[in-house]
Amino acid sequence: MSTNNQQFASDNYSGICPEVWEAMSRANQGHERAYGDDQWTARAADHFRQLFETDCEVFFAFNGTAANSLALSALCQSYHSVICADIAHVETDECGAPEFFSNGSKLLVARTEEGKLTPASIHEIAQKRQDIHYPKPRVVSLTQATEIGTVYQPAELRAISQTCKELNLHLHMDGARFANACASLGLSPAELSWKAGVDVLCFGGTKNGMAVGEAILFFNRALAEDFEYRCKQAGQLASKMRFLSAPWVGLLETGAWLKYAAHANRCARLLAELIDDIPEVELMFPVQANGVFVKLPPVALEALRGRGWMFYTFIGVGGARFMCSWDTCEQRVRQLAQDIRELVEQGRG
Ligand SMILES: *Cc1c(COP(=O)(O)O)cnc(C)c1O
Repeated sequence: MSTNNQQFASDNYSGICPEVWEAMSRANQGHERAYGDDQWTARAADHFRQLFETDCEVFFAFNGTAANSLALSALCQSYHSVICADIAHVETDECGAPEFFSNGSKLLVARTEEGKLTPASIHEIAQKRQDIHYPKPRVVSLTQATEIGTVYQPAELRAISQTCKELNLHLHMDGARFANACASLGLSPAELSWKAGVDVLCFGGTKNGMAVGEAILFFNRALAEDFEYRCKQAGQLASKMRFLSAPWVGLLETGAWLKYAAHANRCARLLAELIDDIPEVELMFPVQANGVFVKLPPVALEALRGRGWMFYTFIGVGGARFMCSWDTCEQRVRQLAQDIRELVEQGRG
């Protein structure tokens, strides 16, 4: 397998991991019942209940935008609002889908510290107004690991869920990189979700090694009422569901979900370590998951692109995001680090 085309623009530039490929191939034997009535879907749901040590309700969707939007729409009425981080994927990268699927529930953005909501920032938004004219806060949505590669510690999650209880808010977790958070903290999925007060988790499969697919787990089962109808109405009920659920069996029964997340995290740490001593390089955030955010001189960014590297630049001037994935090759990380070093040095003139 050639790795010299590996890029760091996104963790979804990667392909499908062998465990998932193999499970899909096992599922591809003859005929099976459709629309989730099959043995693979039942097994995947059971694996989730085992992994999370609780009897949660499990649903499958094609992507994270659908999973988040439908989960949020199940937690709100149209006149409600959702408190989220200013940099939350639901706010900046879902094209208004959370508002659309909830028939207008408004997202209210809160201040963050290292990409994380805090009890204070939630209080600030929730208690700004109490009158009939303000969209009534009903949900807090947080992202674990965050969009900038940091993770919430369990104590931070518990403090937020305590705030949610005081303010009568549900707690939703966007876990597009939940596996990376578990690997980073060395804690169980249960400890980082329902034991910390999370009502609903969207667990990302795509960035964890699947071709496509996210799981929606309701720990608060009452909130899952009629959720299957929301999925169907939104075009998220796969008729050949087994190909959306079997990959999870492959990831969960082998432990690949955690192994690959840990690998991606290690690669990100390696990249950070390899470039940290370059004076012009500024690591923008602590590297706690699989992303490295770097401030580099603009000429170096341009020169990196000139050498064929792909990456996104988003926060602030000169910031670049490098994401590692389940299959990132260490050699490629070293090449990138070396190119950054060379091009920054050249830029000094
Ligand atoms: C990738 C990602 C998603 C899912 O995005 P889709 O493209 O809709 O699958 C959701 N949340 C976060 C934080 C992500 O990084």
